[in-house]
Parts: sequence; structure tokens; C-alpha cells
Amino acid sequence: MTQLFPWQQEIWQHVVTRVEQERLPHAVLLTGVAGLGKTQFAAKMAESLLCLATDKAFHACGLCHSCQLMLVGNHPDHLTIRAEEAGKSIKIDQIRTLKDKQSLTPSVAKWKTVIIESADAMTNSAANSLLKLLEEPQNNTILILTTNAVHRLPITIRSRCQQMHMATPEYSTTLQWLNSQDVIADVEQLQKISSLTQDAPFAIVNALASSEWQTYQQLQQDFEQLLQHRINPVQLTSQWQQLDLIKVMHQLLSICKTRLKQHYSGYAELNKSQQYWQIVDCIVDTIKLISSANNYNKTLLIENFMVSVMRIANTDPINQKSVISQ
Ligand SMILES: [Zn+2]
Repeated sequence: MTQLFPWQQEIWQHVVTRVEQERLPHAVLLTGVAGLGKTQFAAKMAESLLCLATDKAFHACGLCHSCQLMLVGNHPDHLTIRAEEAGKSIKIDQIRTLKDKQSLTPSVAKWKTVIIESADAMTNSAANSLLKLLEEPQNNTILILTTNAVHRLPITIRSRCQQMHMATPEYSTTLQWLNSQDVIADVEQLQKISSLTQDAPFAIVNALASSEWQTYQQLQQDFEQLLQHRINPVQLTSQWQQLDLIKVMHQLLSICKTRLKQHYSGYAELNKSQQYWQIVDCIVDTIKLISSANNYNKTLLIENFMVSVMRIANTDPINQKSVISQ
């Protein structure tokens, strides 16, 4: 059955208490940033509510008739509604299906459960249709709505649901979990990614696997090699030709800023900082050129940029290590 993640323990306990006190609301709105596993959590709630033999911690048994039906994704008392395609809306017809089902009494379990994933993707008419259901709650139906963007939901929907907020874990909890998942990344990588993903564990894992991040990694290596004069600029130019040059420049800017921060925090030698500032100037000039010109010669622009970076690196301590080692 669906597992619980370390940062979900507290909110799970909250659900368990509500169930024990028979105070579980008929509509729950599960909020929190993207990448915390809210969808899995909602599924776990539904499994436990439908299970015929939960344990003391309200975990589904995985063996009963109801659990077996959930495992094969064919439980007559459960419905999951989500946009048919990522990025698309949840349509009114999908909410109508839910209305038809809601009038039925549970056939296997005590409850009927409905999950609406990313409920903020509902069209206005779908939201209005759902509103009618929320206004006339059925005793035995539990609706679980999830959202990363609660502000996008109509206030009328929000006010009729009990909001449960899934908090983002402490960075140390995330690190521990990433280690347990054998996620390999160095400290600098993780810091960079964490700031881009609001520290949400699954968002970090997804970002590490994404092609954009891999491109960023490659860029970081290219840049390093360029500083050390260990790469052929012509070959590198042909690679960068394939990329969005504005994105490349912004990523290089971010790399330089990280380096500068390290210099000023005493992690690295201060005398390199002047050269990084010069490279920042080069990057800013290149961004200006790209932004102002309608038709620019991409090859020439990249080559000029590379020559400037190599010249700066050649005259100063950035390159010292490689000079000594050669
Ligand atoms: Zn069960």
C-alpha cells in the first residue's frame, strides 16, 4: 500500500486523531508546495478509510477485499479525478461523473472516497458544479482535494473544505531521506536545487533527473574547462549553439555568483573574486547584446564570450591551479 514519508508523520497523526474522534471533515483540502507527495498522501488516506482492517496507526492492511480492490485500481467506492493531461483543466463532465457516483451508497467499505488531484486545475464551471456537492455533503463520502496553489481555488470552495497543510520538511530531514534513496548529489548541487524547488524532496529528485538540470551540470563542467583552457572553444561553440543562449548566460551568472559568495564567505581564496567579477561583466554585456539585437551572429557572440573568459582566466589566479598542474 502507499507509504508514508518522514515529513508526513505529523499530518498523518492529525488525520488519525480526527478519525478516532469521528471528526473527519467530509471535505479536506490538502495544501503545500509542489513535491511533498500530497497525491500519495491523499491516496493513503483513501486506502485507510476504505480498508476493512486497519492497524492501530490507521495503516491499511493490504490484504482485505477493499485493499485488494484499491491495489488493482478498481474500487467501486473510490474515485480519483485529475486533468486528463498534465497542464490541462479538470472539466465539468468529470465532476458530473462524481455527482452520479455520490448518490450511491458504499458497496464494500464504510466510506466512499474521492480524490481531486490539483483541484486548482478545475474550470469555473467544474468548480461551480463541485460547490453544489460541497454544500450538500453526503455523510459517507470523504472528498480529498490537493493543491500546490491554494490561492487559485475559488474562495467558495476553500471555505467549504477543512484545510490541512503539509509543511515542507527541515533541510536535514530532506537530506536524510535523499541519502536513504541513494540520491547522489554534492552539497553545492543540492543547495542550488533546493533553492529552486522550495526544499520539497520530490521536486529535488525530479530536478536532478531533469534534462534542464543535466544541461546545467554540463554547462558547469564546460565553464570549468574553459577557465582552465582545457577545452577547444570551437567545439564548445558548436555545442552551445544548440542551447538557449539567454538561459546559458543566466546559468553562468548563477555559477559565478555562487563562486563569489564562496570567496566572500572565506571558502575560497579572495584574490580570485576580481576575475569572477570581470566574467560577470562579460556575461551581462552578452545578455545585453542578445536582448538588444534582433539578428545577431550566435557563433560570433559565443566565440567572443569564450575568448574573453579565457583571457580573463589566463591572466589571473583562477587558472593558477591548472597552470601549476600542467
Ligand atoms: Zn485492508
